[in-house]
Amino acid sequence: MIQFDQVTKRYSGGVEALKNLSFSIDSGEMVFLAGHSGAGKSTLLKLISGLERATSGSVMVSGHNLSKLRGSQLPFVRQHIGVVFQDHKILFDRNVFDNVMLPLDIIGFDRREAARRVRAALDKVGLLGKEKVMPIRLSGGEQQRLCIARAVVHRPAILIADEPSANLDRAYALDIMELFKSFHQVGVTVLISAHDETLMEDYGRRILRLKEGQFTA
Ligand code: ADP
Ligand code: ADP
Repeated sequence: MIQFDQVTKRYSGGVEALKNLSFSIDSGEMVFLAGHSGAGKSTLLKLISGLERATSGSVMVSGHNLSKLRGSQLPFVRQHIGVVFQDHKILFDRNVFDNVMLPLDIIGFDRREAARRVRAALDKVGLLGKEKVMPIRLSGGEQQRLCIARAVVHRPAILIADEPSANLDRAYALDIMELFKSFHQVGVTVLISAHDETLMEDYGRRILRLKEGQFTA
């Protein structure tokens, strides 16, 4: 489902964020990505979601070689992926419902079906009943749930999250992890990064450990 073959990412400043990485993640797997700040976690996730391109090597996602795709084909591949961004990307001038509706608006969904999907996604993350609330009124944990609802509303096959538990107290962080597990349990391929490995250990899942752009044991 996700396959990196000898992937290197060098930013224009010259930093080599990823060095000759190879790994694969099967359909339906739940995998964690660990590493300190600067290890290359965000870069790896951005290569999967198509926000950055590999300098060399190949990145395969759902059968597409992202390094060979033309820009116009990228949105098509992105429809299979849900992303929870590190900086949230919540629109604070729109209410909860409209924030979650956004990806479906972009795809051009039928309005009634879209509204049903938005409520289903909000229900999954425990925010049903807060559709009209403005995001500024939500707690940190609720804002993170909003981001997760928005990431899954188009029913992606792959869900990736960049440090979704950062800035949350441990109890809230564990809640968020349980939420990701619930999507894994219905067949979604899940990849989550965190710098706190203790959050991952209880799950008995594969942990990819990055250090200075390379895997460690
Ligand atoms: P992590 O998510 O593990 O903190 P990142 O992938 O954000 O790691 O960063 C890996 C390395 O790449 C760091 O040295 C960082 O400074 C560098 N880097 C990240 N994004 C950029 C960018 N847009 N331009 C230049 N260097 C970057
Ligand atoms: P419905 O089928 O009415 O949309 P579900 O209860 O099956 O409702 O799912 C509720 C929400 O959970 C969906 O809108 C979606 O956000 C998420 N979801 C459920 N199953 C999947 C899946 N296989 N892939 C991605 N997201 C899913």
